[in-house]
Amino acid sequence: MAGMEEVLIMSSYNNFCYMKGEFRMSILSTTHLTKQYGKEPNIVNALNEVDISIEEGEFVAIIGTSGSGKSTLLHMLGGLDRPTSGSVRVDKFELGKLDDEDLTVFRRQRIGFIFQNYNLVPILNVYENVTMPIQLDGKKPDREYIQEILALLGLEKKLYNMPNTLSGGQQQRVAIARALAGKPAIILADEPTGALDSRASDELLRLFAAVNETGQTILMVTHSARAASRAGRVLFIKDGEVYHQIYRGNSTNEQMYQKISDTLTVLTTGGERSE
Ligand code: ADP
Repeated sequence: MAGMEEVLIMSSYNNFCYMKGEFRMSILSTTHLTKQYGKEPNIVNALNEVDISIEEGEFVAIIGTSGSGKSTLLHMLGGLDRPTSGSVRVDKFELGKLDDEDLTVFRRQRIGFIFQNYNLVPILNVYENVTMPIQLDGKKPDREYIQEILALLGLEKKLYNMPNTLSGGQQQRVAIARALAGKPAIILADEPTGALDSRASDELLRLFAAVNETGQTILMVTHSARAASRAGRVLFIKDGEVYHQIYRGNSTNEQMYQKISDTLTVLTTGGERSE
């Protein structure tokens, strides 16, 4: 029998989802989200009628093999590209209703992107890199909050360092701090462990869990069962469709890893779709 923590009735038609016996605020949802690339007769269906809902404070991983639609989904959720049909809502914004200019401001203010390449500005120090998006908005950075983030990420003594004096791991932590600094509605992370060895990956995922503990909502796409095993919920994507989900409940990381691996085996060997 499914535990209570596994019970979720997703509703993409309003801003709430029912979870663990209570209604919670949904921070992001998609409705029939579809993305096609190319033209007839060579259309690629990268996303097909995807309905997902992410609750405020969740740490969700979306796992799938290469070509399953992960990056496309992340681009649609972050307003980097527009869907062919269907809709995306983040916080109180229907992205389809925003023009390009508003979408740019929305991305800067409400989304914290973490990409594989850290995209730090080489001529700015750590503090300047972290506060750059806030400065671009003409706002005053919340220095106390930013120092808290830098301390959480072990960068409190590196405020005035230039990026080229930092290790790869430290640079990635600066990128995480920058994503967090504007207090975004959600962090969107694209294969954040993709270029890291297993020790650095572990450290990064530990930091993600710590950041999530502060109440920050995180959505990470990955092809790694090990990375996904740190999330509170894992969604499985294949051929542009979200097939299945697993909740952590009281599972350890190792038990989560086993559950994810088992599900991937069923999916990749053509097992039947599980609901
Ligand atoms: P993933 O991130 O899981 O590897 P993608 O979202 O990149 O998957 O790709 C999903 C599908 O869409 C793949 O079949 C891919 O080849 C195709 N695709 C992605 N981007 C484009 C594009 N710009 N033009 C045409 N096809 C694309």
